[in-house]
Amino acid sequence: MRLSPAHAILHSRVGRQLLATFFVLVAVPVGALSLLAYQLTEYVVQQSAAQLSGELAKAVGINLIDRLRAAESLLHVHGLPSGQGPGPVPLDQRLESVFASVDRLFPSELAPMPQGRSTLRVVGAPQPGVAPTVELIVPFAGAVVRGRFTADYLWENAQSGTHRICFSGPQLSAPFCQGVEGQAANEVRTQREIFFTPYFDAPAWTITTTLQPDVRRYLPIGVAALVGNVAAIAFLLALVSSSVVLRRLTRPLDALTSGTRAVLEGDFTRRVQIAGRRNEFTDLADSFNAMTEEVGRDLALVRVLAQMDQAIIGQRPFAEVVRLMLAHLNAQAGGAPVGVVQWPAGAPRPLVLSLAADGTLAQRETGAPRDAGLPQAGEGADPAGGEGPWHDLPVAHTGTQRVWLRLERLPAPEGRAGRELAALGQRLAVALHAEQHEQQLRERATRDSLTGLLNRFGLVEAVDQLVQAQAATPFAVVYMDLDGFKEINDAYGHDVGDCVLREVAARVRNCIGPRALAMARPGGDEFVFVLPADAQAALRADIESVMQAVRVPYSVPPRLLPLAASLGMAHYPAHGASQDELLKHADLAMYTAKGAGRNVLVEFEPALAAEQAGRLALRHDLRHALAGQQMFVVFQPRVRAQGRQVASVEALLRWRHPDKGLVSPDTFIALAEESGFIIELGLWVLRQALQQFALWRADPLVPVRHLSVNLSPVQLADPAFPAALHALLQEFGIRPGELELEITEGALIQDVDAAVTRLAALRAHGVAIALDDFGVGYSAMRYLNRLPFDTLKIDKSFVFAFGVERPALAIATAIVALAKALDKRVVAEGVETPMQADLLQGLGVNELQGYLYGKPQTAAELARLWRSVEGTERPSGGP
Ligand code: C2E
Ligand code: CA
Ligand code: CA
Repeated sequence: MRLSPAHAILHSRVGRQLLATFFVLVAVPVGALSLLAYQLTEYVVQQSAAQLSGELAKAVGINLIDRLRAAESLLHVHGLPSGQGPGPVPLDQRLESVFASVDRLFPSELAPMPQGRSTLRVVGAPQPGVAPTVELIVPFAGAVVRGRFTADYLWENAQSGTHRICFSGPQLSAPFCQGVEGQAANEVRTQREIFFTPYFDAPAWTITTTLQPDVRRYLPIGVAALVGNVAAIAFLLALVSSSVVLRRLTRPLDALTSGTRAVLEGDFTRRVQIAGRRNEFTDLADSFNAMTEEVGRDLALVRVLAQMDQAIIGQRPFAEVVRLMLAHLNAQAGGAPVGVVQWPAGAPRPLVLSLAADGTLAQRETGAPRDAGLPQAGEGADPAGGEGPWHDLPVAHTGTQRVWLRLERLPAPEGRAGRELAALGQRLAVALHAEQHEQQLRERATRDSLTGLLNRFGLVEAVDQLVQAQAATPFAVVYMDLDGFKEINDAYGHDVGDCVLREVAARVRNCIGPRALAMARPGGDEFVFVLPADAQAALRADIESVMQAVRVPYSVPPRLLPLAASLGMAHYPAHGASQDELLKHADLAMYTAKGAGRNVLVEFEPALAAEQAGRLALRHDLRHALAGQQMFVVFQPRVRAQGRQVASVEALLRWRHPDKGLVSPDTFIALAEESGFIIELGLWVLRQALQQFALWRADPLVPVRHLSVNLSPVQLADPAFPAALHALLQEFGIRPGELELEITEGALIQDVDAAVTRLAALRAHGVAIALDDFGVGYSAMRYLNRLPFDTLKIDKSFVFAFGVERPALAIATAIVALAKALDKRVVAEGVETPMQADLLQGLGVNELQGYLYGKPQTAAELARLWRSVEGTERPSGGP
């Protein structure tokens, strides 16, 4: 904003203060002096006016007397020759100019008659503004001559252009004045007496002269104006000179202020310039400019260092850090950097990174750098680029990389530029190290150390990148899980297991290595490979080759171990738009493959996901079922085959889902086992059942003597289970022998040794063990003699099949025979008809359980039933 000088001064606070000071210093003395001069002048004027008036009065007086005396002489002359008798005397010409009339009078005509001296008289009362009539009476012997004056003669000299002249005296009843009358209070007025007595007989008159008011005005005002003008000129001069001085003060101040403001706004390029001769202000501006430049450079350095740090911390590429640094050096006139030379170990030629005109980083091959350690400079020409001389300043040397800073000019190392370069170089070194460290970490974090394939992180990242790249060619994610690996691991140990995994990885690599987009072992015995899916035939062939290769037995001297694989496949983008979805769906497909039997490939389809989603939702709800009090326990009676009296009850868990109603235990128990929630849930069932059993046992009307509770293999594998069971038995005062734990036989053969140990421990404690669902699935007779148990429960499917499938009865017969041989008790479940009951009794089964004797019911329902039959027939239960 350009301001006019006056504005500039008023705009500046200092300007205003200085202006005020100047005003006080100049205006007040000039004003005071002017006033003084004015008053002095007026005094002098007053004095001289008074003097003038005095002189005037005197002159008028003298003139009046002179005229009177001249007139007297005229009358003398006139009276002598013809002064004989009274009567009018003819006037000659001379007399005429003096007198209006001349008379000769005799004593009788005039009283009193003057004697000897001429007498002056005023005739009549004078009118204001009209000249009084004056007469002169001159005595002669016996008569007098009386001359009455013309007004002109006597008063014509009593007039002044500058004064009002008044006559007064005893003879004049009112003063006679000529001239304008004034009203000024301090008018200049002088009085003088005219004494007639030396010449005439008359009292003295007084002459008053008064300076005319309009004349009065001129005199002092003229001087005052002069004084005023002088004062005004002095004031103006003061104003002009002070403005000049003020301008000289405020302009540099303005410049410095706006310079400071620019600095505050972060503009360090602005320099303060003050025109004119050197003074403190120019010195100040110079210091200010020097300071701004220093601070600006410091700040720019700090800024670029911070940006570089940010890039390093933000794990931006090394090139980005280089770009930031080069951009900074370019902006700082002086250093003129050529670029940064980077030479990875093993590369034939180094690369030089330099800043292109558009601010991006360009890179090209260059000749070998010539280290120019500071301060010596090794100069030369680039043999590759054919450019002028330069200097290569070593910056960093990691195990795999070397980096130089290439400069046109080398600054002195201890100078400012040298120190700046050192700081920047250090930061560059940090960036390089950080990037390499980061790379190593990534490598370590994304690789599986055993097989060298990607690990789960690496896999996720790789698939993510494929998805991000939105590759034009579709791809397939294949999940592979080894079947039977766990057995090898358990049987031969982890070393053998690791060997097998490495071998699997090698075979997979061998088959699809060159074509695979990614290969990973996300964990355990799971492998994942990502293959291009543009050609379905090629994809199938690849997968088939992998399956065949994996199936070839593994040599673990002295044996050959067989393995197979279950595979699941998901396509991008058909089966998932994200890494997460693709992997999940491939996994799901693999899971289905596992269920479908070994060595199968299952391709994902949405129905799988829907099923899975339902399971997941149910699993989620299950977590909250206990707290939501949706769980309860029912009891199903078991009767003795002989007499069909209630011997015990089996506790069975129920879940009433708030939306879905009752959910089958076959569904939710499996879910709880998958998530491990069964451990918590199983203990809860045990507690409910034991608590209820303790109540029943104390009731003489209730016939129950034993309690059966189902035990999941997951619970059996839980090391904390025996202690928890023990605590519960103690809490409710139940003897271990009163409790029987039912465990599905099929679940035990997975890890027979561990099961044997755990079951034996429970049994040693006194708890009875029943093998549930006996006869279905992997029922392996050869384990049976190793397993510690008390009771066999023939699965209900055999009972249902009586009379429907021929072998059912035969199998049941064999099972009972087997149990008897091993000295175990036998229970049959699913008894629905008396015919089934009789058949089983005939086989020698000890106890019967089924709807025939009672459905699973709540404790309250059972108690009601037992009470109603009490006293009639000893209960057989059953609805
Ligand atoms: P399970 O242990 O074999 O239980 C017997 C199943 O057969 C029960 O089904 C019972 O209601 C049913 N059942 C009994 N008599 C008859 C009959 O005459 N006819 C027919 N058609 N069915 C009969 P539920 O209660 O649905 O239990 C299914 C399975 O869920 C059980 O089989 C058991 O393996 C598991 N389960 C139930 N509660 C628990 C529990 O608290 N813990 C554990 N770990 N598993 C449980
Ligand atoms: Ca059972
Ligand atoms: Ca069963």
